[in-house]
Amino acid sequence: MVILGTWRGERLTVSVRERERSLTVSTFWDGGLFTAAYEGGGRPRTFITQGTVYRRALDGRMLAKWRPKGMLRQRRWLSQEEALALEAKGRALLQALYADFQAGRVEANGELPPLGHTLFQRAIAWDEAKSRADAQRYREIYLPIGILPPDQYSAIVLQATLGCSFNTCTFCTFYRDRPFRIKAPDEFKQHALAVKDFIGEGIYLRHGIFLGDANALVVPMRRLVPLMEAALDVFPQAWGGFYAFLDGFSGEKKTAQDYAQLASLGLKRVYIGMESGHAPLLHFLHKPGEPEDVLHTVKAMKAGGVAVGIIILIGAGGHVYADAHVRDTIALLNAMPLDDRDMIYFSELVVTDDMPYARDAAAANLRPLTHEECVAQEKAIRSGLRFQGKRPIISRYDIREFVY
Ligand code: SF4
Repeated sequence: MVILGTWRGERLTVSVRERERSLTVSTFWDGGLFTAAYEGGGRPRTFITQGTVYRRALDGRMLAKWRPKGMLRQRRWLSQEEALALEAKGRALLQALYADFQAGRVEANGELPPLGHTLFQRAIAWDEAKSRADAQRYREIYLPIGILPPDQYSAIVLQATLGCSFNTCTFCTFYRDRPFRIKAPDEFKQHALAVKDFIGEGIYLRHGIFLGDANALVVPMRRLVPLMEAALDVFPQAWGGFYAFLDGFSGEKKTAQDYAQLASLGLKRVYIGMESGHAPLLHFLHKPGEPEDVLHTVKAMKAGGVAVGIIILIGAGGHVYADAHVRDTIALLNAMPLDDRDMIYFSELVVTDDMPYARDAAAANLRPLTHEECVAQEKAIRSGLRFQGKRPIISRYDIREFVY
């Protein structure tokens, strides 16, 4: 339900979504247009003001994104004080507005529905102490979640495994802080119950279970199936299906029959960090496996009824590998039986000083591609793609914008 009106002489929009149990308020506040969005339990989710979008992660951090005129999109993580101040600003707006709703001082085209009252009250009750306690609870339940595919930011993450079973790729530092470990079904079920309790009413804004961390699908079938069954005990029908990464290909290989069994449990799509079709570049990156392993795996998944999301690392190997990266990546993608249930993501390489990649690139005298060259590389790969039937979804993937 959307209520349109006027409040304190300014335009007002209040959106109360029954199915998602969410509240969004938009009006002029504290010197500018201000939008504040909340989950059903009162947890802040998004703020928008003066052209900047602020997304609150479940760990309490907040990512600001904005695009100055004529420039690329900018982003930065707020300090904790800044994030809490923004939450306080939203809370002050809701308090003032809700008081005026109750006093009949809002001119609107409809009444606030009962759910609207509940959502206002819960969001107002979400004070600084509650926000800090919520973030602390998150840290008790989860190890830091390094990354998700962009279409999975609203999934429910369950860490069936911790870390990456390879941890060798020179461009990736997501899981350096933890050894790889597979949880036992009982431990995993307790984790799933804790996640469900923590997410609370926010669950209605989420879809699907993402099995973390980097390599949940590398788990042997005899251990993976009980883990998925434990998740199903807590989240019936996996809240829309299971999703996971398979990142590296030197582990135990699953057959099409294995994938068919996983599909029958609800596995919908597996995201594969293929990075490149050029074997020498994969070796340079210390990526485990060979290009033909990826092809074999994709064919097995598709034959078993599981969709794939293929991630290509744009800019990898700089100018030294650029031509071969484009050529062999096109060839490998074109050999895959992809269709409109599948996805291809282009992720631009982001190098930080602590990555072994930076050291190796310097040793190899490798000139990094500029952003414009990366855009051109992505375009070159896209232009070479040929699909037999319906095209997969093709999109960009910026790891700096990940928020869970
Ligand atoms: S396999 Fe994936 S998660 Fe593991 S180190 Fe390589 S890129 Fe990172």
